[in-house]
Amino acid sequence: MTIDDSEDSQNKPELRLDLANVALTPSSTSSQSPLILIVDDDMFMRKILVRYLERESYRVVEAVDGMEALEMYQVYHPDMILLDAMMPILDGFECCSRLQQLPDGDHTPVLIITALEDRESVDRAYTVGASDYVTKPIHWAVLRQRVRRLLDQANLRQQLEAANQQLAVFVNELQRLVAIDGLTQVANRRCLDEYLEQECRRSQREQLPISLVLCDIDFFKNYNDNYGHQEGDRCLQEVAQAISHSTNRPADLVARYGGEEFAIVLPNTDIDGGVSVAIRATELVRSRQLPHSQSKIASYVTISCGVATILVGHDFQAADLLKAADLALYQAKADGRNCVRQMDLSKV
Ligand code: GH3
Ligand code: MG
Ligand code: MG
Repeated sequence: MTIDDSEDSQNKPELRLDLANVALTPSSTSSQSPLILIVDDDMFMRKILVRYLERESYRVVEAVDGMEALEMYQVYHPDMILLDAMMPILDGFECCSRLQQLPDGDHTPVLIITALEDRESVDRAYTVGASDYVTKPIHWAVLRQRVRRLLDQANLRQQLEAANQQLAVFVNELQRLVAIDGLTQVANRRCLDEYLEQECRRSQREQLPISLVLCDIDFFKNYNDNYGHQEGDRCLQEVAQAISHSTNRPADLVARYGGEEFAIVLPNTDIDGGVSVAIRATELVRSRQLPHSQSKIASYVTISCGVATILVGHDFQAADLLKAADLALYQAKADGRNCVRQMDLSKV
């Protein structure tokens, strides 16, 4: 997955899902054949199982009882376990049950070999977490198919899990992209609208003030006309960065409001707090010293800010807050730009 950041696609970041990477190849489909752990206390039985499975092109390791099986499992991480039910020290059922507790143990298929196909043994096999069972004497055609099917299932499961992980990464990235402005990498208008609505409602509910700052670059049309649109875009990125550094709290949100305007949402912040963030934003932009020879008020790029606050106990909406901040911004422009003005909502 890549985000294309080239010049001409900056306003519409392109997300490419690399399907070749999603179709993953789990270990068991790698060049090596699957590894099977054979656990049986009967040496004769073990030997014929080994011979048979090796003839089927599987790799095998052996253990003589349940205890050794647990140790071997942790050393070899087999793709599957063929487990005799009746063994001294630790029988197959208990061994299978303990396997489930080991890392990835519940993902490794266990085929239990029972002497009897009585109801109790079969129920017990499934209860302790076995994937399937075969009975003694072993019917080789049945064993062959069960081994193959269990390995296929485990393989498929691994692939699905890997694909799910990739998908989660992809969804995460998509969620980020729908909320972000491609050019400036701050929140976009859609995100701003949602967040402002949500936080205004929360402020009402929790009886807290909320402030909004609108920032607008001074004489930006002149900047574009003089330096060209590409430089203008670069300037927007710089200004967005600078404004982003004016906030401290996790709940504060800096967003691109439109063209060369930015908004700062400040939950639980009164008018003094809002004004001080706005002043910091203007200072941070000014201190970047981005040359602007066509500005009528400075030799560097500057911004003007309008601040408005919904005070506790006042029944105003997000739209009122935006309108008041916009009027305050208009006032800042009228008062000579490169400054901060505030607006009382009751005057809107
Ligand atoms: P003021 O000080 O009153 O704000 O003057 P201004 O020139 O900044 O304001 P005006 O609204 O007249 O012009 C805004 C300009 O911003 C128009 C356009 O050239 C520029 N602009 C808006 N969006 C973008 C953008 O995405 N990229 C670039 N490069 N320029 C943009
Ligand atoms: Mg403007
Ligand atoms: Mg402007």
